[in-house]
Amino acid sequence: MLRVKNLAKDYNVLDERKRVLEGISFTVNDGEILGITGKSGSGKSTLLRILRGVESFDEGVIELEGKQFFPDSDKDDMMDLIQNTAIHLQRNFGLWNGPAIENIIRKINSRNEGHEGLPESDSPYYDEMYEESMEYLKLVGLEHKALHATSALSGGEKQRLILARQIVAKPKLLLLDEPVTMTGPGTKQEVLDVIKNVKKELNIPIIVVSHLPELHMYISDRLIYLEDGHIIEEGKTETVLKHFLKDMQPQVEISSL
Ligand code: ADP
Ligand code: MG
Repeated sequence: MLRVKNLAKDYNVLDERKRVLEGISFTVNDGEILGITGKSGSGKSTLLRILRGVESFDEGVIELEGKQFFPDSDKDDMMDLIQNTAIHLQRNFGLWNGPAIENIIRKINSRNEGHEGLPESDSPYYDEMYEESMEYLKLVGLEHKALHATSALSGGEKQRLILARQIVAKPKLLLLDEPVTMTGPGTKQEVLDVIKNVKKELNIPIIVVSHLPELHMYISDRLIYLEDGHIIEEGKTETVLKHFLKDMQPQVEISSL
């Protein structure tokens, strides 16, 4: 379970401190998806970066798995716990070019041995790693693409591969920032279905930031509306959307979800 209490964040802009998040409090239970929405500049990405441990915060406390993190806590401890979760699915960072499954095998090797090299195929662990990799690929519906070249996968398949790769590290929290922005209509559905499946299988808190109302209707159990760094409303996805739909950014592609 993730619990955030009274979180605040200031940025220094031209020698002035500018408060971009204030009084942010919420919890996300294991196996629950919390949606966060709001206009551009409302603080959504900053909040996710803080939770990921790559950005500092100025007030409040973040509690994950019973461990508490304060503004002066060691960020590395937080990153260790969160394990570099799939924050930007739309950027195909760091995928290797070989067969898709190699991306997962390398990640398992990294988790177990501390480097992303490929194990020798006569290594006593190779079969074990291969089998474990297939489990992760199954989770995201890619087992039939295991031996396909990564470069030949579609955009949605690459996103799913990135998600599978992140899950290898056994994150305690999954953070997704605009997971389907850069993809076509069919792909959106495919990626969202995979996120739902991951939610069921991993049973960890998941936070999905998106400006797309349809996305939240489809996957978010609860929704927070952020405005100028404050939580304006939190509640049932449908209720919050009803109140703020007119304020949300129009998107050509939403009707296709
Ligand atoms: P969103 O993701 O909702 O669009 P952001 O979290 O990116 O919003 O930004 C929230 C506010 O913080 C904005 O006013 C933005 O200009 C400001 N901001 C974001 N990153 C920085 C930064 N590195 N330095 C200074 N200001 C920033
Ligand atoms: Mg953003």
